[in-house]
Amino acid sequence: MKRVWPTAALTALLAACATSPTGRTQLMMVSDSQMNQLGLSAFNDMRKQGKFVEAPREQAYASCVAHALIAVLPPPWNTQQWEVQIIGDNSANAFALPGGRIGVNQGMFKVATDEDQLAVVLGHELSHVVARHGAERMSDNMAAQAAVAAGTIYAGSRGTNAGYAAAALGLGAEVGILLPFSRTQESEADVLGQRYMAKAGFDPRAAVTLWQKMEKQGGGKPPVFLSTHPSPGNRAQVLGRQAQQLLPVFEQARASGHVPDCRM
Ligand SMILES: [Zn+2]
Repeated sequence: MKRVWPTAALTALLAACATSPTGRTQLMMVSDSQMNQLGLSAFNDMRKQGKFVEAPREQAYASCVAHALIAVLPPPWNTQQWEVQIIGDNSANAFALPGGRIGVNQGMFKVATDEDQLAVVLGHELSHVVARHGAERMSDNMAAQAAVAAGTIYAGSRGTNAGYAAAALGLGAEVGILLPFSRTQESEADVLGQRYMAKAGFDPRAAVTLWQKMEKQGGGKPPVFLSTHPSPGNRAQVLGRQAQQLLPVFEQARASGHVPDCRM
């Protein structure tokens, strides 16, 4: 018993490893279809709570930017059906969920004032989905719980581990969808989002402008988007450097017909 448990757990963990689009190894114990279900159900809850507003101009504009980005995502996300809703909230925030759902707060349009800047935000949010950051966070959480369960059994407890599995699933929506992402995941979403925007014909240099505006916004009180999106101090530097490297990609995208023209 003492030896079987850790070995079995280790085997399960090794079998459940994935590689993110930037080449990072991730623990992946949750399937895409499970995450899609969580995303769709979280979005439906928001709908029932009356969070979405009738805003056809904002919705068409945000959809235009989102779909230009979606077209350059890897499969299966590029062919998935995506729905974009506008949320009646004046703070500058937005999100994308597994299952093909995007929400943009009305307050976002006051900060992201052109299509390139909105593409920075939506590219970043879509990258969290493509890099499976929610599933990764859930998997890390489940592994931590399994370790606790293993420890309990190791210590000679009579309790079954069914309770821990149930707890992990019960936490699914919160851990997979609602909690903030880690700094590593935020940096990865920055890098990926900027790549996707350049490929889609949006100016990657807008990333620097947008994040600077986000930081200035709110006058002392950080906007929600930043408090849920921890930004390392060198974010602007990293994005500025990558923007220069991505200029040929951006120019080639525009030359080959990726010329988004989204307006409100
Ligand atoms: Zn983020």
